[in-house]
Amino acid sequence: MKVKNKKQFYKEVLNILKKSIPEPKTELLFQNDFQLLVAVVLSAQCTDDRVNKITKVLFEKYSDAYSLNNAKEEDIYNVIKSCSYPNSKVKYIKGIAKKIVEEYNGKVPSEYEELIKLPGVGRKTANVVMSVLFDKPVIAVDTHIYRVSKRIGLVDKSYNILQVEKELTKYIERNERKNAHHYLLLHGRYVCKALKPLCKQCVLRHLCKYENKNFD
Ligand code: SF4
Repeated sequence: MKVKNKKQFYKEVLNILKKSIPEPKTELLFQNDFQLLVAVVLSAQCTDDRVNKITKVLFEKYSDAYSLNNAKEEDIYNVIKSCSYPNSKVKYIKGIAKKIVEEYNGKVPSEYEELIKLPGVGRKTANVVMSVLFDKPVIAVDTHIYRVSKRIGLVDKSYNILQVEKELTKYIERNERKNAHHYLLLHGRYVCKALKPLCKQCVLRHLCKYENKNFD
């Protein structure tokens, strides 16, 4: 596809999703920056629903980096044990709290280079935090966005996660990136599902390039 046509294609896709997703925002519940960071770390390989149930209790007990830093690992484990990989995640969130208290005066850093120094924080988590908390024009590619971008035909099927991120960033305007992240993610979560995409009710079915559409 030529660059001009591709830009047009992106525009059409995003305009259609914009109409079907009026509230493009994270479904993770949080009341401060630290809570959002912890929720994103807990959400790796875990549903937002489950994370919200866990953090309701977790944040009541430990609402900020200082209180989580003072908590015992076994107490944190007892609260988050229904999450996937609880042992690693306890270490990550406790380690994040410690570093944020000791090196950042209790505040979540806003720069990518600083965020990825925190335990358990990789490129995707850092990008989500930068986008949601600090309005930076980055696109975090999670499992939904990775799958949906390929199916629709926004990116080449052979691309890896970093290539997908670069391509989406190239064709989506800076001021649209934050919303576009949520459009694609929510579309993947509720319509273009991994196992059985709901193509019959999909607003993109007329322009989607996926060969194995499901019209059951
Ligand atoms: S038509 Fe099907 S495969 Fe294509 S975006 Fe919609 S749900 Fe996904």
